[in-house]
Amino acid sequence: SNRRRLLVCGGLTCGAAGSFSLPEIFQEAIKKAGLEEQVTVTLVGCLGLCEEGPLALVMPEGILYCRLKPEDVPAVVEEHLKGGKPVERLLFRDEAGKVYPLLSEIPFYRKQQRVVLERCGYINPEDIAEYIAAGGYRALTSVLFSLSPEEVIEEIKKSGLRGRGGAGFPTGKKWEAARRVPSSKRYVICNADEGDPGAFMDRALLEGDPHAVIEGMIICGYAIGSDEGYVYVRAEYPLAVKRLRIAIEQAYAAGLLGENILGSGFTFHLHINEGAGAFVCGESTALMASIEGNRGIPRIKVPRSTEKGLFGKPTVLNNVETFANVPLIILRGSQWFANIGTKGSKGTKIFALSGKVKHTGLVEVPMGTTLKELIFDIGGGIKGGKRFKALQIGGPSGGCIPEDMLDLPIDYESLTGAGAMMGSGSVVVMDEDNCMVNTARFFLSFTERESCGKCTPCREGTKQMLNILERITRGEGSPSDLSLLEFLGQVVKATSFCGLGTSAPNPVLTTLRFFRSEYLQHVMEKR
Ligand code: SF4
Repeated sequence: SNRRRLLVCGGLTCGAAGSFSLPEIFQEAIKKAGLEEQVTVTLVGCLGLCEEGPLALVMPEGILYCRLKPEDVPAVVEEHLKGGKPVERLLFRDEAGKVYPLLSEIPFYRKQQRVVLERCGYINPEDIAEYIAAGGYRALTSVLFSLSPEEVIEEIKKSGLRGRGGAGFPTGKKWEAARRVPSSKRYVICNADEGDPGAFMDRALLEGDPHAVIEGMIICGYAIGSDEGYVYVRAEYPLAVKRLRIAIEQAYAAGLLGENILGSGFTFHLHINEGAGAFVCGESTALMASIEGNRGIPRIKVPRSTEKGLFGKPTVLNNVETFANVPLIILRGSQWFANIGTKGSKGTKIFALSGKVKHTGLVEVPMGTTLKELIFDIGGGIKGGKRFKALQIGGPSGGCIPEDMLDLPIDYESLTGAGAMMGSGSVVVMDEDNCMVNTARFFLSFTERESCGKCTPCREGTKQMLNILERITRGEGSPSDLSLLEFLGQVVKATSFCGLGTSAPNPVLTTLRFFRSEYLQHVMEKR
């Protein structure tokens, strides 16, 4: 139709800044202006440029409004929607004062490649019809009626898709392993227990495009021969849980979930399991224990979950973003996907950019993009004319990367080689005012608090490391504390039972490696 669409960002950041009330206010003003027949107002998922929220996008022109307040609504309606002239004072403006009316022209978006986030911010996440109209569930239909489960697995393998939750395990291989184990029952789990400080990628996807994740899970179910799945989502994400619940209900009502999907003979049921806020439940075996109704603590990973996972049955557990990639690969082909990214890391990656960077928000870039491009070209550099000092990538399990390593490409291997890790995709930027010892202490205090206590190195080691760090930041440390900290970090890393413990020392070890002078400064100041 010729109707214009006014898309108000309903992501949590814009919502917190007041966007949830805007659609109603817009609707009233539109009615008053007699434009009801010409403009539709929709609350959508995260548009990405969180720093400038509340955001609203006028389609089809693609004009983006920033920092919208209820009192700005009459001007947008009268001057733009009625008068045809965008309200300049509400458009994006860079530091030099240049105005960018079009979203697609804003440097923050121009260097991105939004494929997984393609629909996020453009469709109503609470209306399955909009997802379908945008090409949704077409991949599922083609899988059910024209591909065998083996062919689906082959396509995912050929694409080179690797797990977006952090470890980067090849997705197709995981699916194949689960399918090969003889069993009358298999499970699909989506890990949406995003707990890293600074991470909001999975939340944004679930809030903005929940059906993409559901579709990916159903396709996985078909490929591995499973009729049941769980989305393990943290209860601290009420909006994501709400939209997911609505999406699942609508998918059932449309015959896309449940018995005999679309008459294909394939059955798949999907449940939501709300986590109770333990970081360790993001670890696959702890997550499964939690779904089973037990205490969420990790177990030894032999046998693998693909052999004996949830309720002792073969299980595929993938992250939200991994599943959201699946329909795209099926629709556009493994070759299309494999052409994006680097040799070992294919496709795109979504990052949550926060901290001292000018344009915080939700970003999607092809693998291989450098950290410098991410922070300076997309993020716009450092706020307030300050100097970049470091970035923390991968949350409390990741590492701090200094300025001279900003040319590092974003791929699994490069980041691990630098002592950091991709993790799920949180990037916290620090400037010259940040103390790196305090930063390390912050992240370690998080993992120390979240340690489940099952094994001694993590339970006691993180505690001792934190004691030393606190001693140093109080000005009571000594130079020998640095080597002790390093030694303890290596021991905790080498001997802890699960990934939480083996990666917990990373922020300390990388800051000791790259910012040792700051530790020494603390120690010397005292003397
Ligand atoms: Fe628990 Fe930490 Fe040991 Fe993991 S490493 S089992 S979180 S105590």
